Amino acid sequence: MGSQEVTSWQGKNVTVAGLGVSGIPAARVLHGLGAVVTVVNDGDDERSRTQAEELTAEGITVRLGDGATLPEGTELVVTTPGWQPDKPLFAAAAAAGVEVWGDVELAWRLRGRDGREAAPWLAVTGTNGKTTTVRMLASILEAAGLRTAAVGNIGVSLLDVVTGDEPYDVLAVELSSYQLHWAPSLRAHSAAVLNLAPDHLDWHGSMEAYAADKGRVYEGNQIACVYNLADKATEDLVREADVEEGCRAIGFTLNAPAPSQLGVVDGILVDRAFVPDRQKQAQELAEISDVQPPAPHNIANALAAAALARAYGVPATAVRDGLRAFRPDAHRIEHVADVAEVAYVDDSKATNTHAAEASLAAYESIVWIAGGLAKGATFDELVTKSAKRLRGVVLIGADRALIREALARHAPEVPVVDLDRTDTGAMSEAVRQAARLAEPGDTVLMAPACASMDMFTNYNKRGDAFADAVRELGASA
Ligand code: ADP
Repeated sequence: MGSQEVTSWQGKNVTVAGLGVSGIPAARVLHGLGAVVTVVNDGDDERSRTQAEELTAEGITVRLGDGATLPEGTELVVTTPGWQPDKPLFAAAAAAGVEVWGDVELAWRLRGRDGREAAPWLAVTGTNGKTTTVRMLASILEAAGLRTAAVGNIGVSLLDVVTGDEPYDVLAVELSSYQLHWAPSLRAHSAAVLNLAPDHLDWHGSMEAYAADKGRVYEGNQIACVYNLADKATEDLVREADVEEGCRAIGFTLNAPAPSQLGVVDGILVDRAFVPDRQKQAQELAEISDVQPPAPHNIANALAAAALARAYGVPATAVRDGLRAFRPDAHRIEHVADVAEVAYVDDSKATNTHAAEASLAAYESIVWIAGGLAKGATFDELVTKSAKRLRGVVLIGADRALIREALARHAPEVPVVDLDRTDTGAMSEAVRQAARLAEPGDTVLMAPACASMDMFTNYNKRGDAFADAVRELGASA
């Protein structure tokens, strides 16, 4: 099929790799376009059999229990982004000269079909803060009266948006490193890499490969490559990117901005990039208090969202209105309640050390509830940077010993309660212990720096358990 545009899908043999949240809709869309679709899936459990039956009834072939062999005659593979690049199916595709597209590549190629105007993409990636930033961006674009949607891991699916009937002016798109890996021809209007810390290295193989996949988001940008001045790795990616003539590098910073940057001056978010004379002028966008929550890393998210919106030409007042209208999603630094003059904050979404570090930096005196599945992480840097803010620590979950040892090495004076529990009821006990350690004015912060699956179905359930425990505590106080 080569890399030329697919003009007709009629009769094309397309193999979809993986059932599931992206595989099933991809198979349906391709089938609807007239392609001859075969879905291959490693698993052969009850759930996949039910899904297979439904697809088969619609005329789609499904092969369960063998995701490794490339079906005879395959002309294109469309993969679930989560499939690791070293899988045998991809080696077989490469050997046969068959292209592999991810769900994002498919959506990108299907934009603007039927002669419709294709909405440009403002893309966001990074290790942490993607969802928040994309939602802030959509809120700003909406405030400017544009028809838009926050798409990606959240809300509407990219494929639905590009193939649906609803017209859009511009899209705020969240992209993961997996999706970028499989999206070779994506070209955003403008894009931001928020930050870069080791994550998902087992999938990508190395930090270099992970960074390279994140950096793909800048390839072919037309107007702006937005990077984080506090994270040099993001700036390096801009430098390496091959962009359209005239595309600008725009930095964001929590300090005063230089020309071609957005930053903060005296509590005000300021734009020195998208103004008529950036040497002499600065445009006031919003106040720090317009951003919820006004934690430093979240101000950075707001600046990145503002930079992308301004790159698209949105007026300053829409940035302010959009940020004011934005409400953070649950379990992201969510203030649950105050009990006995102690604030209880749920940041269950802090599933890695980089996120937990940002969250701990937002409070002065903290009783920290941490632990869970470490996913190969080390905790020395996190503990060293946060030690002075810790009133005490309560540890739960499978890999809590790793955090306990880091605390013993770098913060031996901080009291630690090791709960030695991984049952779901452990959260109530953790909250009670944290309440015991806390003094009036402190914050009890559940920012586990770990995944939740050792104790809970997901981070939402972990956050809910925390909120329930805080309510119990409030009722008994
Ligand atoms: P993502 O979609 O990248 O997972 P979210 O917006 O859902 O990001 O935020 C996930 C967690 O990461 C938050 O709960 C918070 O602890 C942390 N976080 C958010 N923004 C940042 C940032 N800019 N830098 C570091 N950590 C962040």
